[in-house]
Amino acid sequence: MNNHTYCSMVIFGATGDLAKRKLFPSIYNLYKKGTLDKNFAVVGVARREWSDEVFRENVTASLQDSNISIEGDLTEFLSHFRYLAFDVTNAASYQDLHELLNSLEQEFSIPGNRMFYMAMAPEFFGTIASYLKSEGVTNEQGWNRLIIEKPFGHDFASAQKLNEDLRQAFAEDEIYRIDHYLGKEMVQNIGVIRFANAIFESLWNNRHISNIQITSSESLGVEDRGGYYDTSGALRDMVQNHMIQMVALLAMEPPIRLTTEEIRSEKIKALRALRPMTKDEVKQYFVRSQYGPGSMNGKEVPGYRSEPKVNPESRTETFVAGKLMIDNFRWAGVPIYIRTGKRMQEKSTKIVVEFKELPMNLYSKSENNVHPNLLIIHIQPDEGISLILNGKKIGMTDKTTPAKLDYCNHCIDGINTPEAYEKLLNDAIHGDATNFTHWDEVALSWKFVDVISEAWKEDTSSEFELYPAGSMGPKAADELLAQDGFHWWPIGDDSDYSI
Ligand code: NAD
Repeated sequence: MNNHTYCSMVIFGATGDLAKRKLFPSIYNLYKKGTLDKNFAVVGVARREWSDEVFRENVTASLQDSNISIEGDLTEFLSHFRYLAFDVTNAASYQDLHELLNSLEQEFSIPGNRMFYMAMAPEFFGTIASYLKSEGVTNEQGWNRLIIEKPFGHDFASAQKLNEDLRQAFAEDEIYRIDHYLGKEMVQNIGVIRFANAIFESLWNNRHISNIQITSSESLGVEDRGGYYDTSGALRDMVQNHMIQMVALLAMEPPIRLTTEEIRSEKIKALRALRPMTKDEVKQYFVRSQYGPGSMNGKEVPGYRSEPKVNPESRTETFVAGKLMIDNFRWAGVPIYIRTGKRMQEKSTKIVVEFKELPMNLYSKSENNVHPNLLIIHIQPDEGISLILNGKKIGMTDKTTPAKLDYCNHCIDGINTPEAYEKLLNDAIHGDATNFTHWDEVALSWKFVDVISEAWKEDTSSEFELYPAGSMGPKAADELLAQDGFHWWPIGDDSDYSI
């Protein structure tokens, strides 16, 4: 065990949903696997007046409610947990925190390494960072790392302001901006698929790929997050971060080394090549929509405007589809289509890479149904890769049929892929920022997205096409591809790929 991984973790917002559902189970898994051994402490910080005991009971309940397996007695694990009732705008709270950390570092022989996890409303991030600095909480011998949740601002200007506030207290290399998609096994696998497989990397360009499609669909509606979501929408909630990050990983050039700096620098270069749009062009490239009433699994569900805490006349988009062009040598002319939405037919995140047809195909399409080759990267809920090839139809015929080769992560016995949060926490403890977003990436994606949200905000006159809950989105999203001669590939597990 390396001393550099001995640390205290301060969770701001420890009574909240994220801490309960993701952070505590991830910390427990890291403990079970030995990443966190005896030399760690967790300080939960939130408004409520809880005792350590009540906090520990809540941590225990969160582990029991999650789907992780608990091994034996939790007493030793829980002895590392402390709670501090906290007012984030009061300097005295930070002094208490400082004292508590000093004593925990003694108790658990932790060499001053401190991780601050912001799991609360973003309006407090700047305030907390500046108090941590002014009250000397960051002022120790070991490392300081700030982990920060989305949303990172709501547009470029607010993100820049937040970044400046954080930078008063933390250096860029101490700030770990979470994009939990980057912790997902198959998102991390994009690099391996591309750079460790000669058959793909040599085809990974505009000579061989006709288009790429990225879908991230949710079947849930806004649930009880209507208040937040109505001020955000799918563009800010999903496109600016997760979707654009996946685009960057698919489009980047091979890094010269697998280091954080080299990978980030290639991602940033890819994002700089994103074709900018004028507000007038947004209609040509982007589609927004909102779910209306519909049915999910045979059950009637209300439309977005009837959801709790949502403005009944809301024009917030719950669905976005877009066409992104990367204007560089590798990708000129290859559209990358994205779509994401709530209350769609099923929950699924998938990337489909569609390869070009052969220059001359002896098995003509009309008679023999020759299919373009597809590489499908399944990100969630199932994880794996499928490759769609053409095979000969068995029998006395020269007809072809799509042949699907599957590699499925879950099918490997005993392998339960770790949660994204567990991996990201582990990376942060080890000081590996590769799977976190650099400020330059955040800035470039906000600048790209801001044009779209401004165009939509100004366009108050056009009709808002709704899509029925339980569908795959509005017709306009299909037309976006149809005008280029493409269509969305199905994303269901038992999809039929014959055309
Ligand atoms: P939440 O509302 O459930 O919890 C907020 C926490 O902040 C609570 O512990 C509350 O006590 C604390 N808090 C609020 N005001 C405070 C104050 N003035 N002083 C001290 N503590 C205060 O929120 P959440 O869902 O856990 O989300 C937290 C952050 O994580 C947000 O930035 C959110 O966007 C982000 N996030 C959450 C999820 C998720 O699954 N819940 C997913 C991705 C990102």
